[in-house]
Amino acid sequence: MTTDHTSPATTAPRRADRPPTLTEDLVTRLARRVTAAPDAAQVTKTAPYSGAELTDLPISTPADVDTAFVRARAAQKRWAATSFAERKRVVLRFHDLLLERRNEALDLMQAESGKTRRDAFLEVTDIAICSRYYARSAAGLLSPKRRRGAIPLLTHTTELRHPKGVVAVISPWNYPLSMAAGDTIPALMAGNSVVQKPDTQTALTALWAMDLMYQAGLPADVWQMVVGRGSSIGDTLMDNADYMMFTGSTASGRRIARDAGERLIGASLELGGKNAMLVLDDADIDRAADGAINACFPSTGQLCVSMERLYVAESVRAEFVSAFVERTRKLQLGGAYDFSRDVGSLTTPAQLETVTAHVDDAVAKGATVLAGGRPRPDLGPLFYEPTILTDVTPDMTLYTHETFGPVVSIYPFDDIDDAIARADATPYGLNASVWTRDGAKGRAVAARLHAGTVNVNDAYAAAWGSIDSPMGGMGDSGLGRRHGAEGILKYTEAQTVAQQRITGFTPPAGISYDTWATGLTTALKIMKRLGIR
Ligand code: NAP
Repeated sequence: MTTDHTSPATTAPRRADRPPTLTEDLVTRLARRVTAAPDAAQVTKTAPYSGAELTDLPISTPADVDTAFVRARAAQKRWAATSFAERKRVVLRFHDLLLERRNEALDLMQAESGKTRRDAFLEVTDIAICSRYYARSAAGLLSPKRRRGAIPLLTHTTELRHPKGVVAVISPWNYPLSMAAGDTIPALMAGNSVVQKPDTQTALTALWAMDLMYQAGLPADVWQMVVGRGSSIGDTLMDNADYMMFTGSTASGRRIARDAGERLIGASLELGGKNAMLVLDDADIDRAADGAINACFPSTGQLCVSMERLYVAESVRAEFVSAFVERTRKLQLGGAYDFSRDVGSLTTPAQLETVTAHVDDAVAKGATVLAGGRPRPDLGPLFYEPTILTDVTPDMTLYTHETFGPVVSIYPFDDIDDAIARADATPYGLNASVWTRDGAKGRAVAARLHAGTVNVNDAYAAAWGSIDSPMGGMGDSGLGRRHGAEGILKYTEAQTVAQQRITGFTPPAGISYDTWATGLTTALKIMKRLGIR
């Protein structure tokens, strides 16, 4: 367990908005996990469903961040000395505890983010997959590898993978569990320690995941959590980090990249998108309309890989639009701590402001609202109806800007070349989706799209859930990848150790340079003829 360096949170009982599992004891225990001084100032968090106060959390200062790194650095040396088998045992135990306590996780995520239980459950699934995958594949990916030596038989070469040291993870509010744990687990499996700054709005979920990892046996101080604004503690995180894992907006990502470049540390940046879904003329329309619901409104559209642009072949447009609009109008909005609702609340007032501004701007400039288009204060302060727009033109803000809400625009296209050109006409390149009855055609179109992941006959989960394969953005959507081998190799320094036997690239004693050069030339020719790489 980590050492307790904070005072108990001074939470008055304000439980009206709390689901039953979110007890005062749990909240207090989680608040104590924040690395902050005993007399730390507190921040009050509110629940999106109602706007009522949820809890207080201590705020970390830059000095607290320094402290977190000192502890994490000391702990990392001991953690890196553990075997892969030991790390695997901890992470698989975390996996089991996560599934056992899933209701606690679901309640917490819903209380902090306002999402539906269905969306929250997908995060539990995601982290179960992630922990199983990296627990079981880290040793294979990171154990020392024999490599071909410079001179066959005479050079013994090994590739080693060392942990970077202390990784800083900055995670956003939209997927509180996936974003907090999903990038930390591979960092830990690679032998790093982690100092994490989750978004304050969803910090309890991140603290819960960390607490669970300690219950699973993670040694003290290997994972530290600080809470505070990026403007207050971001520079200190950057100054101390050996590697920066950032998920958030493109604007913030650019700044992180610049600062990481200044320090010459690596950074992985998972940023924004303006993702496109293509419905080709041979698509199964019912399936595509169901798919569009999943594509556009998960977590109330606050998902980096959700779709904000639908391009539909002219020949099936009327049929598709009618099926999609009908389904959208039937969606059940609301905040409930059960699986009954289809779409939840937005998470912050800022998101509601952006969504409202984007839709109002589009409507004022001539867009047509086919479904939704208005906030629902009768359900809660941050609810907004799933919204479908058409007649959207380039002068409207949401034509190119990410809304990050439950708003999608439908556009026509002429042929596949036109569809691809339109889909790619943004600086982003995160995720895309193609719908067709012809799988081979779908995969061929996918390969031509400028996006880090492309799903054929699925919205995003097929590619995201294929954790053995990399996920991330092209262009303004980011740098680096999570998932797959790249998702853990990035947290390591590669080292090549080459031992030379007998002689290397100089003539042995008693052999003239001419003779040696002739011999080596002959050897090079033979190696090529033998097909040696
Ligand atoms: P944001 O403003 O960039 O903030 C994201 C998080 O990073 C916040 O917690 C923020 O903390 C923190 N942060 C920003 N700059 C920082 C700095 N210099 N140092 C330390 N922390 C810093 O983004 P957002 O608008 O909240 O999040 C939504 C965006 O994230 C969308 O654009 C979405 O597409 C993107 N996103 C991408 C992915 C992906 O995998 N590609 C996943 C989820 C979300 P403060 O607010 O306290 O400053």
